[in-house]
Amino acid sequence: MAVPKRKKSPSARNMRRSHHALAPAAHNECPNCGEQKRPHHVCGACGHYDGRDVVAEAKA
Ligand SMILES: [Zn+2]
Repeated sequence: MAVPKRKKSPSARNMRRSHHALAPAAHNECPNCGEQKRPHHVCGACGHYDGRDVVAEAKA
């Protein structure tokens, strides 16, 4: 089996990991209740999506 000739230097390892940071989750305001919600997701506070109520029991 082919095996790397040299151990990667700490610099090369850290440069590889420079792309590993997590981006903060996207969010915007629910047009119905104003709560923060994720785009393309049903609002967790009022159960609305695309201008209508899609989750009956989520009513606060
Ligand atoms: Zn809402």
